[in-house]
Amino acid sequence: MAVALFGAIIGQERAIEILQRAISAGIQPDGSQAMVQSWLFTGPPGSGRSHVALAFAGSLLCDQGGCGGCQSCHLVASSSHPDLEVIRTEGLSLKIDEVREIISRASWEPSSSRYRVVVIEDAERLTESAANALLKAIEEPGARTIWLLCSPTVEDVLPTIRSRCRQIALVTPTTEAVAKLLVREEQVSESVAQFAARASQGHIGRARFLVREPDSRFRRDEVITMALNLNDVAGAMAGAARLMEIAATEAESEASERDEAEREQLANALGVGATGKAPAGSSKALKDLEKEQKSRITRATRDSIDRALLDISTAYRDLITVQMGVAGERELINEHLRETIVKRAATATPEEVMRRWEEVMATRRSLKFNVAPLLALEALLLKVRF
Ligand SMILES: [Zn+2]
Repeated sequence: MAVALFGAIIGQERAIEILQRAISAGIQPDGSQAMVQSWLFTGPPGSGRSHVALAFAGSLLCDQGGCGGCQSCHLVASSSHPDLEVIRTEGLSLKIDEVREIISRASWEPSSSRYRVVVIEDAERLTESAANALLKAIEEPGARTIWLLCSPTVEDVLPTIRSRCRQIALVTPTTEAVAKLLVREEQVSESVAQFAARASQGHIGRARFLVREPDSRFRRDEVITMALNLNDVAGAMAGAARLMEIAATEAESEASERDEAEREQLANALGVGATGKAPAGSSKALKDLEKEQKSRITRATRDSIDRALLDISTAYRDLITVQMGVAGERELINEHLRETIVKRAATATPEEVMRRWEEVMATRRSLKFNVAPLLALEALLLKVRF
């Protein structure tokens, strides 16, 4: 059987084996083998949950089980397959209106394929009412509808929903696998690929970002060096402010072009451009769009802060590696900062560094709730001074 769609995925051999077995069973001509209709893909950020789910979706829709070359596979790749719905949010939550619309379309008969497939990329961001609406839909799915949900862990999804899903657990890909992918797909040197793979700790999206944006590598080094050199209150306050500044820069650069294009598109759709006067009701649509864009910036900012905290945590892991006396035979995650790390390692014990690591993780968790990021970062950096 063709494996082209799955061929682009790295480090998930076990999951792919299960999925391919399901696909082969599903394409028995007599239809004797029933297909599981709800699936839940879980895995740490960056493990490629949505990539695996989309490859599976494409394979279900393709007559040859995901050849990668037919019209169906091309339509999936260009996000325009009539039998595939993908729900993703760049905002903080997935609201009931968005979900309801998809649900109503989900039960339609497939137009050209064996199935109708709905992928929900951020199932953990479903609001309670949206989750309940979804639960009803997957309890009584259309005969040919397949639901593919993605979330970081099973606990992120309502128990009533996950109990109806076949779970596919993805793993963090190895540094070697990520480095190989970067060399192959990003055409970078072995040493840059190795660095990005180590620094991203198996997070493929982060690794690609580090490779593509040299500035992000400088910012990363700046954040880590700041954390390693923290030793007074003023430094902690300045460090927190700088982390916020970096997060804002990254979020803005992701958003600005797209926001402008969307405003223009909406204005055109509403006919604002033609008459010069906005028709009744359009101000609400514009306000909704602004709200959506603001929520997207908020999320991008928080994601960026989270990345910075993860980067700091890698420096703590390096400190412990040095303190345990195994840094001679092993490469550090931040090998290029070895000198700074070795110096700092001599001034604390492994227990003290471990405590700092735990503080960082606790702050990451609290930032998922509505705490003010600047205050949380100030409090954290005060606690992790050396
Ligand atoms: Zn195909």
